Amino acid sequence: MSPRSERTGLTVIKGVGPALAEKLERLGLRSVEDVLFHLPLRYQDRTRVTPIGALRPGMDAVVEGVVQAADVVMGRRRSLLCRLQDGTGTLSLRFYHFSAALKTSLQRGTHLRCYGEVRPGASGLEIYHPEMQNLESREAAPVAETLTPIYPATEGLSQLRLRSLSEAALQWLESGNSLSELLPAAIAADYELAPLREAIRTLHRPPPDVDLEALQDGRHWAQHRLAFEELMAHQLAMLRLRAQIRSRRAPVMSASGELAGQYVRQLGFPLTGAQRRVAEEVVRDLQQPRPMLRLVQGDVGAGKTVVAALAALQALEAGWQVALMAPTEILAEQHFINFQRWFAPLGISVAWMAGKLKGKARTNQLQLIATGDAAMVVGTHALFQEEVRFHNLGLAIIDEQHRFGVQQRLALRDKGAAGQFSPHQLIMTATPIPRTLAMSAYADLDTSVLDELPPGRTPINTVLISDSRREEVVERVRAGCSEGRQAYWVCTLIEESEQLQAQAAEVSWAELCEILPELSIGLIHGRMKPAEKAEIMAAFKAGDLHLLVATTVIEVGVDVPNASLMIIENPERLGLAQLHQLRGRVGRGSTASHCVLLYHAPLSALGRERLGIMRESSDGFVIAEKDLELRGPGEVLGTRQTGLVQFRVADLVRDADLLPAVQEASKRLAREYPDCVQPLIDRWLAQGQQFAQV
Ligand code: ADP
Ligand code: MG
Repeated sequence: MSPRSERTGLTVIKGVGPALAEKLERLGLRSVEDVLFHLPLRYQDRTRVTPIGALRPGMDAVVEGVVQAADVVMGRRRSLLCRLQDGTGTLSLRFYHFSAALKTSLQRGTHLRCYGEVRPGASGLEIYHPEMQNLESREAAPVAETLTPIYPATEGLSQLRLRSLSEAALQWLESGNSLSELLPAAIAADYELAPLREAIRTLHRPPPDVDLEALQDGRHWAQHRLAFEELMAHQLAMLRLRAQIRSRRAPVMSASGELAGQYVRQLGFPLTGAQRRVAEEVVRDLQQPRPMLRLVQGDVGAGKTVVAALAALQALEAGWQVALMAPTEILAEQHFINFQRWFAPLGISVAWMAGKLKGKARTNQLQLIATGDAAMVVGTHALFQEEVRFHNLGLAIIDEQHRFGVQQRLALRDKGAAGQFSPHQLIMTATPIPRTLAMSAYADLDTSVLDELPPGRTPINTVLISDSRREEVVERVRAGCSEGRQAYWVCTLIEESEQLQAQAAEVSWAELCEILPELSIGLIHGRMKPAEKAEIMAAFKAGDLHLLVATTVIEVGVDVPNASLMIIENPERLGLAQLHQLRGRVGRGSTASHCVLLYHAPLSALGRERLGIMRESSDGFVIAEKDLELRGPGEVLGTRQTGLVQFRVADLVRDADLLPAVQEASKRLAREYPDCVQPLIDRWLAQGQQFAQV
């Protein structure tokens, strides 16, 4: 992880041979600098000797005393039991693995210092397999002067070994060698950042008077110093990516707005102020010779699809192809249906691409896309595939961005017309991205917010009901549906397996059909053929079905205004953002809507707190922030899907308050000290994380 220029071979450390070097390699440690950045996970306090009389179970403690006896005892397992006394009490040291040599070394009268975890045992307080030191004389040898670091380790590498390695590396640092200070002095001074080597030394060997609590919580100044630098490195990588994309050429899409005007007239409702504003921002971007990189955030139901259509029409009228990509097939299909309905009267043909599309139908669609006969293309991530060739892709629209990674975004960009132009990118997300994450994960994007819902929406009343009252809930569905309302019954499973989810939904469906024979009840899940799904959705939309039993496939985008009741089974299994998305399927019409969170009792305290937030807030931003607080960024954004980077020291939630300063400092560094940027990125980001392949 150290920059190429910062590599001092491990062989400068005495005792590091090929065998050890290989083990160290497994921890990613290839240089002395790597060892210095290999920071402890936690610390032990061995700077004080605790009197035996003051020991409590659970403590990690250093104890000194005189051996009274050491005997092999039988019990459930044979063990060596050594009694140690210090004038304040007696403690037992127990060994399940021991040699004859160990037994003889524990002669009565021997002075010992040991370290270990104190636990209640058969003979009072005990320490199992303590680390031990024979104190030759009665004079105490010095105890540790600093807290003892515990390092991330790997098999065959003991803490002792890692400690002596870091000791050697620190000595190397003391003896005139240095880690490059990559932050210019002026920036370090303005943000009160201590020198790097001081921070590194403190984290490897914290002095006994250190604020241990701050250290364990990651709030110590030395950790801040490193987190600040690491966050800057990430921020700078993003800024560089953005600059690189911006330096490419993009098609200038000047159009009269004629098509967009026709489209709006046929919509049947006026645009909201927010839609008009955001569409204008997008159209302005599309007229620039640089690629647009714009993120549109808008709560569930804010009407992002219309904005996407307006952007598409600007590109289409200017003669460019447009791709719209959605994360699930059902959502992509719904877009496909909408865009066909909207664009056919305007004389624009729409192509369809998904993984499940096979054979001749697939070849046909690929052909339409390659020739440009279909100027609008809608699909799933199958659009990223090699075999999909566009005629002249000018605009890529990505819906529900948080499910796609930065890398995937870049892949679609590479499909631009003959590599000469980069397409514009419009990214839409219904899960409002917490501010802190937006700053770090999306620093390369401009942001527009659709902060106004279309008129006539009614707030959703959310209630928590235990599944012991399931029958009552079923009766509520019966009453609601017999009054002409429509309802969703959503089944959740933790397993990602579509098959298990489908089975769970089938069971609920069969059961509900039996209890509610007077209702017509549909079933929809991810294992059904696209045509079947479309048919069921159409029937529900037309009002032919009262109740739709569904898996979370309906999470995003599905739109049936007459549906005003939603039951979610086992909501405690889902993330809050996902629940918010699901709940957004109701409350789209003018009747009051209800959402029942039918939880499995008993709920944990955390579960109660999380679902309580759903009951109290209907603001996607508030919910997303809370979700982030309770679950951490990896869970919220799905680290794997998003390609969201892993930090070594920094933590986006814990260090959120550093971010504004980090952003400011990064911009200044890039402007005033451009030569410092690359070494900083090299130090902190692994090659694969650098998004440098632009
Ligand atoms: P989301 O932002 O969640 O993607 P959609 O684009 O699916 O929202 O829009 C939700 C619903 O709101 C759709 O039925 C859409 O036709 C409707 N809608 C969008 N804009 C308006 C508007 N300005 N006035 C009334 N209804 C609108
Ligand atoms: Mg949508």
